[in-house]
Amino acid sequence: MEAKYTKAYAGKLDARDELRDFRNEFYLKNECVYMDGNSLGLMSKRAEQSVYDLLSSWREYGIDGWTEGNHPWYYLSESLGEKMSELVGASKGEVVVTGSTTVNLHQLVSTFYEPAGNRTKILADSLNFPSDIYALKAQLKGKGYNESYLIQVQSEDGHMLDEETIIEAMTKEVALIVLPSVLYRSGQILDMEKLTKAAHERGIKIGFDLCHSIGAIPHQLHEWDVDFAFWCTYKHLNGGPGSVAALYVNKKHLGASPGLAGWFSSDKEKQFDMEHTLTPASNAGAFQIGTPHILSAAPLIGALDLFHEAGIEKIRRKSLQLTAYMMDLIEYELKDFNFVICNPVNDKQRGGHIYLEHPEAARICKALKMKKVIPDFRKPSGIRLAPVALYNSFTDVYDCVQTMKNIMEDKVYEQYSNEREVVS
Ligand SMILES: *Cc1c(COP(=O)(O)O)cnc(C)c1O
Repeated sequence: MEAKYTKAYAGKLDARDELRDFRNEFYLKNECVYMDGNSLGLMSKRAEQSVYDLLSSWREYGIDGWTEGNHPWYYLSESLGEKMSELVGASKGEVVVTGSTTVNLHQLVSTFYEPAGNRTKILADSLNFPSDIYALKAQLKGKGYNESYLIQVQSEDGHMLDEETIIEAMTKEVALIVLPSVLYRSGQILDMEKLTKAAHERGIKIGFDLCHSIGAIPHQLHEWDVDFAFWCTYKHLNGGPGSVAALYVNKKHLGASPGLAGWFSSDKEKQFDMEHTLTPASNAGAFQIGTPHILSAAPLIGALDLFHEAGIEKIRRKSLQLTAYMMDLIEYELKDFNFVICNPVNDKQRGGHIYLEHPEAARICKALKMKKVIPDFRKPSGIRLAPVALYNSFTDVYDCVQTMKNIMEDKVYEQYSNEREVVS
């Protein structure tokens, strides 16, 4: 056997890994190889500590916790937004931690979708996560348009989108474009800079859903002149189940009235004047609605420190090495078993996870779980594997592929039904 396919080689890669110490910051799920950080990131000790600290501030300060303590709650959404700015390449005041992905999409579309004359349509794609599509259809309905006003760019192979095809669909009828940064199945990265430039040349505003890229790849939203973006914090950012999401609004749009207003949209100095005329905040804070979900934002205080310390460039570098190594092992070890690698293989387009297709995917995933490897299944035949730079090792990748090989050789998966579970 070639040296590069041995477990010893994986160990060597780990020894050379500049981020290896971050693994100790996390609670690794007992003896499991966790490959599902793109669905729900693992808990870090820092995130846990920041939840305890937040609870103490409630116990200690009562209502005064809004303005006192280490992380005054009244300013937490904005201060976490600042902390996250480096991950998206935002300038000061462009990011706020608020709401959920889907609520933020509703907020941004109700603010920036302004149909007028013949420009009435929304351009999206056919591979996006369903929640985004439901929200866009609901937004159209709210403005009196039916579903035919949503244009969904098609994919040729069912896995990838072609930027040129998207650009061709940017017609004079399009008022707004919403696309993912990284496709949730194939992990393809769309060229956000190119798409933004093309949209603006045609007078169209454009926003991106960063759920699968935040914390995995660097972004330069401000430099690329992206109009708006939104993302969740429980996937690669490890904020915990239901942790508060975030959004970005380009400085040039700040001052716009939020489509969905509430008293937390207010300028902070004026909020407690309790006037019936809203004075929106002059930063992205204007896109908040009501009282922030402080308890669900708390884990982010610690979780984001880890990203700051590691640096997103290093995270991306290791992530690319992990996924390249995984593809290499899959091709070598699983070549007899009908797996098809459906993610982009080149570094420029490959996001943070590997996407395989196999007709027995549902039960292969069940067998993997039983063997303590945690993948995630995507109907009808997809397996996503996310080796995460902050806590997965090259040895994890090695063990994951070896386990898959054993399952296939021994046909262990045949003990299970080939159907998805309620949550997959
Ligand atoms: C995870 C994900 C969501 C989830 O939305 P929530 O409002 O956080 O439930 C939405 N869109 C995409 C692309 C996602 O990957």
